[in-house]
Amino acid sequence: MTDDKNPSATDAFHSPVVDRVRNDPEPNRWILPRGELVLPRVFGFCRGVKRALALAARATDEHARRVAPGRLVLLGEIIHNPWVNAYFQNRGVTILTRPQRQDVEEHVTSEDCAIIPAFGVPLPIERRLRDIGCQIVDCTCGDVRRLWTWSEQAARDGYGVIVFGRSEHDETVVTKSRLTEAGGVYLVLETLPQVETFGTMLRNGVRDAEFQASFSPSTTNAESMKAFETLAQVSQTTMLYHHTQRVREILTAAYSARFGETAAERLRFQPTVCRATQDRQDAAVELCQSRCDLVIVVGGFGSSNTRHLHELARRYAPAYLIENAEAIQSAEQLQAYNRQADAAETIRDWLPNKRPLHVGLLAGASSPEIVIGQVLQRLAEFLTH
Ligand code: SF4
Repeated sequence: MTDDKNPSATDAFHSPVVDRVRNDPEPNRWILPRGELVLPRVFGFCRGVKRALALAARATDEHARRVAPGRLVLLGEIIHNPWVNAYFQNRGVTILTRPQRQDVEEHVTSEDCAIIPAFGVPLPIERRLRDIGCQIVDCTCGDVRRLWTWSEQAARDGYGVIVFGRSEHDETVVTKSRLTEAGGVYLVLETLPQVETFGTMLRNGVRDAEFQASFSPSTTNAESMKAFETLAQVSQTTMLYHHTQRVREILTAAYSARFGETAAERLRFQPTVCRATQDRQDAAVELCQSRCDLVIVVGGFGSSNTRHLHELARRYAPAYLIENAEAIQSAEQLQAYNRQADAAETIRDWLPNKRPLHVGLLAGASSPEIVIGQVLQRLAEFLTH
């Protein structure tokens, strides 16, 4: 569960602009001469992110006070937000890339302090850190740990595990490694069409060679469909909640068609999309269903929960995902996320001419308020004169 009333871990991420809008006579609504900027009832940092940043900030504070030869080393991005990662880098923290993490002994010594990000690290790397003998600050979110515990138990009970998520997302990379360590078999399905395909293959039966050709080694360690005749299903904690419900329906229908009355005892489901993700998705839909001529989503392009907010918003209004206020170059030009390219692209004429203009602003669980506040201020310039 999240507690969104708790203050942020560190003042560095706060924004007086957001505080003012949040506490306005009309909460979360900034009324301007030529329109309004509206925030959802829940946005920004979740409890897991606040905790991770508090632990990392405390480690950097302690390190700054101490005269010690060791360094602070983050085993990957602390969360998926460029502003936050740059903040820690500017405070002397070294962030390892994934290949560098594989050579952890090259980059971490016994005198260093290793910080484990909110998504965790694979178990073998955790063990190697202990062997190195460095100080370890573990920022792994409890909701992510709960997903691992449940799926590892299911794997030990002999269930093949379907993970609905992005195979290369940091959290799912660790989930795969943990399941392998538990002696389990997994398959990562990234989209609903992939789940449909899996369901069809299960119904119709499939040769081992076809199964192996259909799923790459980065998504499964199984050799055949047989491994999934009993199935446990989890979702990456930041997936779209209504998609995970659909996954359950598709799998239930496929297993019923294939196994009839024994289908129920072959299936285990665990709702692992975290409460913070669900809350932000629900609040985003409420906001988008109200009067929005335009929606701006603020957050890192690598943030799964932020990208899903963008996906939701696009159903209701023109919606753009941007990383910071600098992305708003002018009323004519915006640097926004392009899904196909997985990078920023220039959007022209993004700002509608209509006045008064109603602009919704969404922010994922990894988006710091300081950046949200800067975006609010930048948008307000267009609705003031
Ligand atoms: S979004 Fe959910 S899983 Fe991720 S850090 Fe926040 S509470 Fe934890």
